[in-house]
Amino acid sequence: MKEKILVTRPSMPPLDDYIAMIGPLWESAWLTNMGKMHEEFQRQLEDYLVVPEVSLMVNGHMSLEMTLQVLQLEGEVITTPYTFASTTHAIVRNGLTPVFCDVNPDNYTIDVTKIEELITEKTSAIVPVHIYGQLCDVNAIYEIAKKHNLKVVYDACHAFGERIDHSMICGEMVETLPLRREDVGENTIGVGNFGDASIFSFHATKVFHTLEGGAATFSDHRIGERLYRLKNFGIMSEIDVDGVGANAKMNEFQAAMGLCNLKYIDAEIGKRKQRIDRYREQLEHVKGLQLLPVQKGVHSNYAYFPVVFHEDFSKSRDEVYQLLRQENIFTRKYFYPLTSAFRCYNGLYDPADTPVARYVSEHVLVLPLYADLSLDVIDQICHIILENN
Ligand SMILES: *Cc1c(COP(=O)(O)O)cnc(C)c1O
Repeated sequence: MKEKILVTRPSMPPLDDYIAMIGPLWESAWLTNMGKMHEEFQRQLEDYLVVPEVSLMVNGHMSLEMTLQVLQLEGEVITTPYTFASTTHAIVRNGLTPVFCDVNPDNYTIDVTKIEELITEKTSAIVPVHIYGQLCDVNAIYEIAKKHNLKVVYDACHAFGERIDHSMICGEMVETLPLRREDVGENTIGVGNFGDASIFSFHATKVFHTLEGGAATFSDHRIGERLYRLKNFGIMSEIDVDGVGANAKMNEFQAAMGLCNLKYIDAEIGKRKQRIDRYREQLEHVKGLQLLPVQKGVHSNYAYFPVVFHEDFSKSRDEVYQLLRQENIFTRKYFYPLTSAFRCYNGLYDPADTPVARYVSEHVLVLPLYADLSLDVIDQICHIILENN
């Protein structure tokens, strides 16, 4: 029996690192509620992500749900259906109506030429997704949001640690960016600086993880204050509760894992790049296969390796999925189905309204990718895809 290859595998820091990190928790017996680990991890993340403020959360989903709540949005929110369930659910669970915009066929982020036609007097926000770590057209989204007075919350769950060259950002927006004083003069911008807030996930399967975990990044200190309260039931003091909050706090064991993994994240991303290069050497320029574009001016985190199997390729997406499965290699049809096609939303939305997103979801396969994935397995995967082509 061959070893089972899954689409991803969480990176584990050296066990001794983690044990050393959590040791003090046995003495303090302070396990959650914004303890010392939490504080230190939050500070280190602000540095790593190069953002003015981070609010740590129990997971990425609650980070998004609470941030939308804090912004006190109403009515309709423009977003894309080509994403993980969480993005759409967070909007709906806030009592808001998702309005689905199509994605662009090059990198599957929101098609900015189709946003304005969806804006009505009920629209209050845009929730774009940096899908697979591909940067949305943040300049165009900035212009549209300014013109129509809309909030913007980026789902940056796939974009941990990415940076963008200053030169890629339009002048006016750069001036509005809350660059921290010590960063002025740096010529890159952390991806978490765009919009009113950005959301990150530190789930075990993501590029960077805290077992489960997540965060919101933002520059308006009031967002931070409200998030701080809402993630702890809206509690202001022992006798004052002012906010219909929930429980979305990150605990000390999660924060400790984050502190350990942060030490290795750059090495981790480097190894992912090597693996993506190996895939690209074999699959780039093959007729009928579409890979993600390499975005100019974006320092990628190499989070995912999706391939779109177009109809002029010799095998369909589903055939490749099956062929690899027979070899104990498990790919994922991320993101199929579209969130607008979920059974729980049955009848409310029509996936035909976003034909590009629907096409991509029916033709895409995410191939295995993690830091320790063997290069031989990558060669084997490419061989199976290209065999008899
Ligand atoms: C993982 C993910 C989320 C949710 O994050 P969790 O930490 O799993 O709650 C939200 N959006 C996208 C695009 C994701 O990939």
